[in-house]
Amino acid sequence: MKEYADPRMHSAEHILNQTMVRMFNCGRCFRAHIEKKKSKCDYHFDRPLTEKEIDTIQSKVNQVIESDMPVREEFLGRDEAQAQYNLERLPEGTGDQIRIIRVGDYDACPCIGPHVNFTREIGAFRILSSSFEDGVLRIRFKLGG
Ligand SMILES: [Zn+2]
Repeated sequence: MKEYADPRMHSAEHILNQTMVRMFNCGRCFRAHIEKKKSKCDYHFDRPLTEKEIDTIQSKVNQVIESDMPVREEFLGRDEAQAQYNLERLPEGTGDQIRIIRVGDYDACPCIGPHVNFTREIGAFRILSSSFEDGVLRIRFKLGG
């Protein structure tokens, strides 16, 4: 599970995904490469982002991080989870109890990865660049100063 290696980066991915869903009504990223130094998330999209949108995404993610929301897990039966969430990105053989990760009241998502306990542990979130090609929007980001 290399893509879940870093809890801080991976928790930032949850917040970024919810921010994208709220701003653009696009789905969560369909592909991600999460590494300690730099990460990237890919979204199905229809155009490039403007500079202003990139700034807004970055500010919103940082607001969530700075408000120090608790990150909690809960378990739902598979049917109940299926009714509320997209389980497609979960690996096979996850079993009948589905783990849901909640970031305060901001985000909830089924996930098997490791996370921080409070969002402030993530540190400052910075978008390095974004690009758009063939219906795929890529956002590259890092953490810290
Ligand atoms: Zn996760």
